[in-house]
Amino acid sequence: MSTWSTCLSLAEVAELPLLWSGDVIVVGGGSAGSAATVASARCGARTLVVERSGFLGGTGASVLDTFYGFYAPGAEGVRVVGGIAWEVADRLLREGFAFERPNTYGAGTGVTYEPDHLRRTWDRLVADSGAGVLLHSPVTRVVVEDNSVVGLVVETTQGPALLRARAFIDASGDAEVAWRAGVALERPAPGRRLQPLTATFRMMDVEVGATTTKELHRLIGEAADEGTYRLPRREGSVHRTVLPGVVHTNLTRVSGVDPTDPFELSAAETEGRRQIEEYARFLVDRVPGYAKASLVSTADRIGVRESRRLLGRYVLTREDVMSARDFDDAIARCGAPLEDHDGGGSTVWEYIGGDTPSGETYGVPYRSLLPVEVEGLLVAGRCLSATHDAHASVRSMAQCMAMGEAAGTAAAMSVESDVTPGSLDVGTLRDRLVKNGVLL
Ligand SMILES: Cc1cc2nc3c(=O)[nH]c(=O)nc-3n(C[C@H](O)[C@H](O)[C@H](O)COP(=O)(O)OP(=O)(O)OC[C@H]3O[C@@H](n4cnc5c(N)ncnc54)[C@H](O)[C@@H]3O)c2cc1C
Repeated sequence: MSTWSTCLSLAEVAELPLLWSGDVIVVGGGSAGSAATVASARCGARTLVVERSGFLGGTGASVLDTFYGFYAPGAEGVRVVGGIAWEVADRLLREGFAFERPNTYGAGTGVTYEPDHLRRTWDRLVADSGAGVLLHSPVTRVVVEDNSVVGLVVETTQGPALLRARAFIDASGDAEVAWRAGVALERPAPGRRLQPLTATFRMMDVEVGATTTKELHRLIGEAADEGTYRLPRREGSVHRTVLPGVVHTNLTRVSGVDPTDPFELSAAETEGRRQIEEYARFLVDRVPGYAKASLVSTADRIGVRESRRLLGRYVLTREDVMSARDFDDAIARCGAPLEDHDGGGSTVWEYIGGDTPSGETYGVPYRSLLPVEVEGLLVAGRCLSATHDAHASVRSMAQCMAMGEAAGTAAAMSVESDVTPGSLDVGTLRDRLVKNGVLL
């Protein structure tokens, strides 16, 4: 049997060069990780964000272009997320790189932005916070001593190196650090429900608004039934962007894939691109407004909705979501419906507290960011501790950024007061978050 381990002791990494040492390291620079980085550095902690790709913003800056979760669905359209997340959205809106877009299926008003500009916005916010940035550097192993995460091994352009800090945040989407540290996780497995993957794309020279969503869905169904086009998903979203004549398209669906299996993920990328060609061909051939349109770009990577998740000190459940439950240790709020894409060709929507959007919200507990087995580690973003159903509601980017801000603030406070994140006084954390504009 192999003795290779993802979790090492300090003695086992003694030969590696120490590339960086400080207070807080954030793994993954997506919505959660970038917000965590800014929050931690603004609290005065020496902070580094480590990202495997060449930009910050993650899925939000590569696959998507609309923040959901800021507004609770319902007649009043109340905003439930503030803090750094809203600072990002507000900055994009004020600079003319975003607009608010009423949602057609009840997820609340979205903020549609230009993803390339989001990358630069995070660059500026992180630089202004004073945090360090390490791009093109996947974390490959975790160093644990006495049940505490104390370091990471990272692959860099100069080979493997060691990073040391006093607190760590796993914002990798796939719970990469938690998994490597050996903590309890919910993982893709045969028979376990898992949301499908989607490859997004953009079309240019579109006569925007020439077809309604309802008519588009009818045309997809018709073409799929005829068998002229292979269109696995019969609904989905096509919407206008900041760029005139350009639409963002979320139509493809690659199901039954374990995104943590390297060959399955690779095959999903290829299948996603194949579906993009097919949907683009269908749009140009069959849909009013697309006669002169062409495919202008495809996402850098296929969009993964769900993979590994922490099984932490609290597991957020469907009941918590549907009953709009609050928690004494809530560090973020969410009003988004359960949005489950795992039902074959269609998507299932379930609203908090009833059959229609109500404007009700629930709290996201701090304990859902804390592993049971190790100290020195927080988890934020889509790999938080939640069931499949609860995750289908809480995974929007506004909530991921809010969780990131809470994790970053908690990590910095734990370093500042020399306690572990798990024994931090949550009341003090919540007070600090509210002082910084977080809505609780
Ligand atoms: C197809 C699709 C459509 C969606 N639509 C919407 C929508 O319209 N609006 C909305 O609000 N939400 C939407 N969501 C949900 C939302 O996008 C995600 O839940 C959210 O972006 C997750 O943010 P995150 O920060 O947790 O992860 P990510 O944004 O994925 O960030 C994780 C980062 O970690 C990095 N990373 C991973 N492993 C390592 C490693 N070992 N070392 C270093 N770096 C690493 C990755 O490169 C990535 O940058 C959608 C999701 C998908 C897939």
